[in-house]
Amino acid sequence: MSSNNLNKKEQNLKELLRPEVKEISPYYGEEDNFEVEINLAGNESPFDLPQEIKKKFKAEFDKHDINRYPEIYSERLHQTLADYLSRELNQEVNTKEVIVGNGSDEILDMLIRTFVESGDVVLSQAPTFSMYKYFTKLNSGQYQEIFLDEEFDFKNLKEKIDKLKPKLIFLCSPNNPTGETIEKDLVLKLADYFAGPVIVDEAYADFSEIDLMPDVKNYPNLAVTRTFSKAFGLAGIRFGYLYGNEVLVEELKKVLKPYNLNSLTDMLACLILNNNDIIKERIEFIKKERQKLYQNLNQYQNWQLYPSMANFLYIEGEKTLEFKKILNQRGIKIRSYSKKNPAIRITVGSQEENKAVLEAFAEFKEKNWE
Ligand SMILES: *Cc1c(COP(=O)(O)O)cnc(C)c1O
Repeated sequence: MSSNNLNKKEQNLKELLRPEVKEISPYYGEEDNFEVEINLAGNESPFDLPQEIKKKFKAEFDKHDINRYPEIYSERLHQTLADYLSRELNQEVNTKEVIVGNGSDEILDMLIRTFVESGDVVLSQAPTFSMYKYFTKLNSGQYQEIFLDEEFDFKNLKEKIDKLKPKLIFLCSPNNPTGETIEKDLVLKLADYFAGPVIVDEAYADFSEIDLMPDVKNYPNLAVTRTFSKAFGLAGIRFGYLYGNEVLVEELKKVLKPYNLNSLTDMLACLILNNNDIIKERIEFIKKERQKLYQNLNQYQNWQLYPSMANFLYIEGEKTLEFKKILNQRGIKIRSYSKKNPAIRITVGSQEENKAVLEAFAEFKEKNWE
């Protein structure tokens, strides 16, 4: 094909796009202009899978016929997950109340595709995880947000619901990026008042005290999503799930792609669900390190540090970007935000990684202490 024709064809592809796709840009992380030695930008666990579980995985893998499709809807994993939740919550959870996804992102997308028609409103909080907006826009919905400030209370939420008539509400608790939790009482009042699904994204709830999962049985429109990418240290295998009412789960299954989970994810998720003691120890470790980092970084008066119930700290204020520069010079990658006030988000890492953060903080103090 002549280069002229090639260009024309390329141009034509762009013209054929759905308007929603035209408007959106692909999700990329921040670009690095330095060599990343310590990655504290993704809220991942600093711990790799324990060797003994890797060993079990290898043994299972050796027996596995990889030429075969996985189970269509990961039946064994659903059973293992339901058993795990029954143990954890001390209440009967059955396989019809859970649905597994290729990361919890897949489930968030599925929820929107199940309920949201063109122009429908999806309501969430701000600031928060960017994927709610991304999936809403991509699926032709209208995204509306309520700021997480003093006015984030039942009275105001109720007014917004009456006015905007959302189809679906997403809450994120503990919230990414601020680490705050939403009062349980507020979520339950909301679930009581609102007719549609109230989805609580609990990606970080393993690090927190608040957990809405025990309340799912009493509120048919309340559902909770969780992921193995953070506390469970399995970001590489892409696994998340939703726990909710049977009716909701049954409808979601219509939208789910068959074979959505690959057999390796299936295998590893089952293994970790049956061997999760080590994960609990690691969570305790991260919480202690979080406390240590918080106390140290909180010494700088000009910053506002948010008390975090997750595995990261969120810091707002002048000169946070200055601190980021110093971290980057030392090969440490973090996230930054510049929408309203400059702010940064630092994942709690391993002991050595956190020590490196505090060394960078010492340098920052030297340069900026007034
Ligand atoms: C990381 C994160 C997720 C994504 O989880 P995956 O299971 O890796 O898709 C979902 N929600 C929030 C708030 C997150 O921070």
